[in-house]
Amino acid sequence: MQEDIKSKTQEELTEALKDWSLPAFRSKQIFRWLQQGVCSFEEMTNLPKDLRAKLAERFYIATAEIARKQVSRLDGTVKYLFRLHDGQHVECVLMEYHHGMSVCISTQVGCRMGCSFCATGKSGYSRNLTASEMLSEIQTAQHDSGRRISNIVLMGMGEPLDNYENVMRFLHLVSCEEGLHIGMRHISLSTCGLVDQIERLQKENLQITLSISLHAPNDEIRSKTMPINKKWNTEALLKACRSYADATGRRISFEYAMISGMNDSDTCARELASRLEGMLCHVNLIPVNDVTGNHYRKSSPERIGRFVSILESKGITATVRRTLGSDIDASCGQLRRREEEGEPTHAAIREK
Ligand code: SAH
Ligand code: SF4
Repeated sequence: MQEDIKSKTQEELTEALKDWSLPAFRSKQIFRWLQQGVCSFEEMTNLPKDLRAKLAERFYIATAEIARKQVSRLDGTVKYLFRLHDGQHVECVLMEYHHGMSVCISTQVGCRMGCSFCATGKSGYSRNLTASEMLSEIQTAQHDSGRRISNIVLMGMGEPLDNYENVMRFLHLVSCEEGLHIGMRHISLSTCGLVDQIERLQKENLQITLSISLHAPNDEIRSKTMPINKKWNTEALLKACRSYADATGRRISFEYAMISGMNDSDTCARELASRLEGMLCHVNLIPVNDVTGNHYRKSSPERIGRFVSILESKGITATVRRTLGSDIDASCGQLRRREEEGEPTHAAIREK
């Protein structure tokens, strides 16, 4: 079996090649090429030909090829469907914000968490992505768009903390100086609340932003849509969040999908505010997108406005997420589902 060369750190690469008695600068050159996103050893033009052949025999270079691409007419948001080396597909979304280009990447093919509102959760789980595949998503998006990516959100398909080691390796590679050099402060990781892994993450003391998919103010409501809540309830989760914010000094971002008649009442807003009281945090409200046929309806703008004002009156800052790419199924898991079900996308503008 060939080894995954792009998941290796520079030190690991040096170690792996030490029996070949190469000059010291070679592993650095190879590492740089990989981080720049070359797809074959042939492209490493400053290496001797025989070395390139030797590398190709022992290693493979992970790639993310564009299987499908949609561009929003409304705001230019690009949604990619990437094909991985084994034919599996993952999604990735490229958005422009005032502070630069932001890319939302997948961390698993599918997801095991089964949240009832989520298209990814509905379509089951196939496998974890390697660190090199996560890097490839960014490299392909950057190459295709010709724009430098400055922000990353781990909010595509999959539960990042259910693929802990590969995600940590990816964070290390993408932020390193010889690589894409995207600082931890420009990276957000979103989780549905794997408490043991949040505790583990806290010990890494990274400067990333931690987002928590909370979506409910109490266990009764949360357990209806998120099976993970039966393993770790809101009390355990919020306790871990307080500890995380205290230890890292980083503000937690709570994601809250507004579902009409489910979690959007004034009582819910008050309960949420009281449970988050005193925590270094922010609430991000997202009008739910009904992608699973569960008849979840978005809360009205008036209801969302009222929810925000209750939170703010209790000292909790809240914003309503700008919905980008709403014409191109730019929500988690939708494009892959359509691809697999052979359903036509309704707004395919440019496709490969
Ligand atoms: N597994 C991680 C990260 C990927 S999901 C997590 O759950 O946090 C990315 C975000 O999209 C999460 O906040 C998730 O709850 C939200 N999401 C999924 N389906 C949605 C939908 N139909 N409407 C609104 N938000 C949704
Ligand atoms: Fe998985 Fe996140 Fe979707 Fe839940 S919301 S099923 S954790 S991807």
